[in-house]
Formats: sequence, C-alpha cells, structure tokens
Amino acid sequence: MKTLGYAAQSADTPLAPLAFERRALRPNDVAMEILYCGVCHTDVHMARNDWGWSVYPIVPGHEIIGRVIGVGSEVSRFKAGDAVAVGCMLDSCQHCDQCRKGEEQLCREGPTLTYISPDRITHDITYGGYSKHIVVRQEFVLSVPEGLDLARAAPLLCAGITTYSPLRNWGVGPGSRVGVIGLGGLGHMAVKLASGLGAHVTVMSRTSGKEADARALGADRLLVWTDKDAIAKAGSSFDLIIDTVPVRHDVSPYMPLLDVDGTLVMVGHLGLIDELFTVPLIMGRRGVAGSPIGGIAQTQELLDFCARKNILPECEMIRMDGINEAFERMERSDVRYRFVIDMASLKV
Ligand SMILES: [Zn+2]
Ligand SMILES: [Zn+2]
Repeated sequence: MKTLGYAAQSADTPLAPLAFERRALRPNDVAMEILYCGVCHTDVHMARNDWGWSVYPIVPGHEIIGRVIGVGSEVSRFKAGDAVAVGCMLDSCQHCDQCRKGEEQLCREGPTLTYISPDRITHDITYGGYSKHIVVRQEFVLSVPEGLDLARAAPLLCAGITTYSPLRNWGVGPGSRVGVIGLGGLGHMAVKLASGLGAHVTVMSRTSGKEADARALGADRLLVWTDKDAIAKAGSSFDLIIDTVPVRHDVSPYMPLLDVDGTLVMVGHLGLIDELFTVPLIMGRRGVAGSPIGGIAQTQELLDFCARKNILPECEMIRMDGINEAFERMERSDVRYRFVIDMASLKV
C-alpha cells in the first residue's frame, strides 16, 4: 500500500514529506488510516539522534488514532470503520513469560517499537505515525471506546500509559497520596489520571507560578520547592511520587517526602541522575524505581477508564507541515501540554 509520511533524513535536517509503502496485509494484520498522531519528546530525541542510535530515514510518531480500512483473513476482533489506536509497540515475541502475562513492553526479546525497530519477519525498519496509513498485527491494535474524543485521545498512547502504568502497578486508588514532579506532557497526564483514580494529588514545583494550572488539571495542591516550611511539613507524607522530569536531576531532596515503603518512580528521563543520598532510602525503607509504558491489556484498560471518566489530554492541534516548528517549541517547553497532528492536513 502506497502512503505518505513525514521523515527526518538526518539529525540536522527538518522533517519533510516521504512517500513509502506499507506492507501487504498478513492474515492477522489490521490496516488503518491514521487520523491523529501525538508528538512525543522521544520523537524529537530520535529525529535529532540525541541518544546516538537513530537510523535514517525516521518516520516518528507512536501516539496513533485511526480508523480500520482493511483486515487480514484471520482478523476477528476488528472490521472496517472501527476507531482504533496504536501506541509505542507493534509486536513482541508473544511466547516469553512477560508476553504471556500481558507485559509485552517487557518482552524478553524486546518489543518491536512503532518506529526505528526491525520488523520481526522482514527486518525492515518500522515507520511510525507521522503518516497517512499503518499496518499492525491485531494483537497490538487497541479499540477506542465510544465517547472518547478521537482528536484528543492520541497522547494517551504514550504519555497516558507511561503515567497510568505506575499508578496502577503501585496500587494507587482512593486515599492514596501521590506527588507529581514536572508538569509537561507526562506530568499533566499523571495529575489527571491519579486524580481520576481518587488519589490526593500534589504537584511539586520550583515556583508558585504553576498553582492555577495544577489545580485546573485536578491537583489538590502545589508544593513549592522554595517554601521550606511546607516542605518540612510534607515529610513522610507520600505513598508514590511520579517523577516526569526529562533531564538529569537530583532526586535525593524528594526522598524524605515519601512515607515508609514509599516509592519515587522515574518515567521521564533515560540516562544518569545525580548522586543519590541513601540515608532516607535505608532508614525509611523508601525506593527509587523506573517504569516504561504498559502492556496492551493495561493500555486498553486506560482507554476504557478515560472514556468512562471523561479524562482527556490537553492538546494543541497542528498541521503536519507545522511539525518542525512544534519540535522547536517543545525544546523551549512551549506547549500545553501535547501537540497532536491532524493527519487530514497531510494530502496524499
Ligand atoms: Zn512517547
Ligand atoms: Zn516476549
């Protein structure tokens, strides 16, 4: 199937149109027209080779909302016209212990990522959601429940599941005390989802300027880092802290805020952090953990939860040809809170 996308050809060239082919349908494949695609920080890092392992051309995009336009002969769960979604992975081994538990993101052989990963059969490098069409095996296609606004749902597929997964895995529910560090694409979803799960939510910030934004997203309060009294009073008062900061930083100051057995979960930064002071970890049996996205079943649970609770990301819609400007604005943190590409703006 011929399609059109937007691709980076090297680390220092702007994204530009690229015509390419999607594979012919395998028996268990679903073909979809992409309607919307969210713009994740990973897209920027990959397009610019910030982690040193990009291969070009790259068609980024792993927050995909679309409609089914065709299915393979063995597909039973989807039919043409269905509203569907695809996130950060397209395939996995399907037989290891993690895959069998529904934790495909932790597949022992590594999941096939939605872009820049070799296909498990052809070894062709995958191209992502900045395109008009995609073909995905049905096990990795999600149903978009009725009532979920298609134009705003896309960021749930990465920013949403990345924050929902630790909230669920650490048992957050009514009465849980949750802190959120960083109020960007990930952080604003952590606030909305923790609040939707019934938790008491605190946004932790360096300045008081985010108070109105934090409350509008559903936070119960803002804890300002320069307010020493408030910080002292907040000692041992959190069950879970979701740290969404996307750059190297120091987590030691946050550790005394966790209650006994509390955990700070890092979701936003791949790389080194500053030296960690272990006294509060050992004396309070506190932990630092990390968490990637979530499995397919948990991602479906998230979509259903958001439809039921009417939880949606805050989005700024852009045209496909506005992507280079959007990347520049993201590098200045000038987005509230996620860009979403309206794929109708890309004409074949
Ligand atoms: Zn992402
Ligand atoms: Zn596996």
